[in-house]
Amino acid sequence: MNLSAYSDIQNFIDGEFQPTRSGNYIDNINPATLEVIGKIPDSNEKDVSEAVEAAKKAFAGWSVTPVEKRFQILNRIAGIIDEHLNELALAETTDNGKPLWLSKKVDIPRASANFRFFATGIMHFSSESHMMEDRAINYSLRQPIGIVGCISPWNLPLYLFTWKIAPALAAGNCVIAKPSEITPVTAYLLSHICREAGLPPGVLNIIHGTGNIAGEAVVKHPDVKAISFTGSTRAGERIASIAAPKFKKLSLELGGKNPNIIFADCNWEKMIKSSIQSSFSNQGEICLCGSRILVEESIYEKFRKEFVERTQQLRVGDPLEEHSQQGAIVSKMHFDKIMRCIDTARQEGGRILCGGKKMQPGRRCANGYFIEPTVIEGLGPGSQTNQEEIFGPVVTLQSFKTEEEALRLANASGYGLAATIWTQDISKANRVAAKVESGIIWVNCWLLRDLRTPFGGMKNSGVGREGGWEALRFFTEAKNICIEL
Ligand code: NAD
Repeated sequence: MNLSAYSDIQNFIDGEFQPTRSGNYIDNINPATLEVIGKIPDSNEKDVSEAVEAAKKAFAGWSVTPVEKRFQILNRIAGIIDEHLNELALAETTDNGKPLWLSKKVDIPRASANFRFFATGIMHFSSESHMMEDRAINYSLRQPIGIVGCISPWNLPLYLFTWKIAPALAAGNCVIAKPSEITPVTAYLLSHICREAGLPPGVLNIIHGTGNIAGEAVVKHPDVKAISFTGSTRAGERIASIAAPKFKKLSLELGGKNPNIIFADCNWEKMIKSSIQSSFSNQGEICLCGSRILVEESIYEKFRKEFVERTQQLRVGDPLEEHSQQGAIVSKMHFDKIMRCIDTARQEGGRILCGGKKMQPGRRCANGYFIEPTVIEGLGPGSQTNQEEIFGPVVTLQSFKTEEEALRLANASGYGLAATIWTQDISKANRVAAKVESGIIWVNCWLLRDLRTPFGGMKNSGVGREGGWEALRFFTEAKNICIEL
């Protein structure tokens, strides 16, 4: 299997590669070089209907395939992903603009880990029984839902695509999956891997295209019974408005504006190193990045000086070069959005402490979409800059005097995805963690992930939780059976 050839992406329906019924294709652009690397099918509802028909046919077999067999196939997919680490990582970097070392170290290994985790998870998944003394016994069946839709974003393309698909398949569902039209390549390569691993035709169908045409066709299809979506809050709202009146099961993992709360009694070295990572990893394009840095007043000056110095030392450059810590922004549209947000911060009276400009690394990346890591101060919690998700290499600094003020600032956001707390006082850490309105809290660390834990946000950051049993529960329908004794 040659996974280096991906210029002509096709839909994967019923185990076959198919051109889109629309006949239309979109250019796929490498954001670091602006080179056109291939064509993406601009699929429509006809492609989605064919995929649903294939999935319906496949469901009869897959839903009753013994879990051990499902385990074997999914585990095989994980193994093939590992074998092709280098090709997949290069494809991810070419498509997304992220550094190659990051794709190799994080994105692709996590994609195989997702399959391996849920392959083994389904072998241990069990349901409950409830005894009513000597009157009756209840037991709950957890049955696959049927045909489910999985829609994912561009920031961690294969990583988040597989985070949805793996539990859906493990639980016995057939899937219609739509990766982001901005980074479709590794999802396309995954279809080859699934074929090689012996996944039966129709069990996983991958449709490429835009959100408002192909994505909405998946959400609207009456035979698609559940939607697992990761992306922007705006698209999540639109999807909920279509799916909720049809009573489809919904899992929505949306945007964030995460606080990074730094108390004076933190472990300084660990905090400052980790804060650089939580601000700028993956060009700041991780929903879990801490974009609002809140610093206790007594250490604010020291923090600002050292944080800005370290930010200025970050090397932004060609994603293929080993020493590039930050690569390209994923697309022109997103690049323009981030630059507009920086302009807004200026207009609101924010001081740009470093960065704020387009970068030109030169050579093959001379025209790519690169932005200097940017630190802004002087804006209050209600400013647009501190309220709206930027999703790029841009953070703001604010100071606080007391624990109460830190909490007020942390919670002064419509979002509630993740937060980081830095303090050596364990009681304070627990107190603050309990009161921050976020689904995920890291204390003295960032992005330390155990795949068994509930993952997701509150407020405008979404509905439902992924990960571990939560994901397997989402992708199954509970049915209680009561037997009188
Ligand atoms: P997006 O909402 O534009 O697109 C995400 C996916 O949804 C894409 O596949 C897109 O084609 C599709 N889509 C868009 N509109 C749709 C519609 N109306 N119907 C069906 N599908 C539709 O998001 P993006 O720009 O790709 O990703 C960035 C966003 O994702 C950020 O807001 C980020 O915070 C969020 N995100 C959240 C998490 C999380 O776990 N909470 C993780 C990663 C990214």
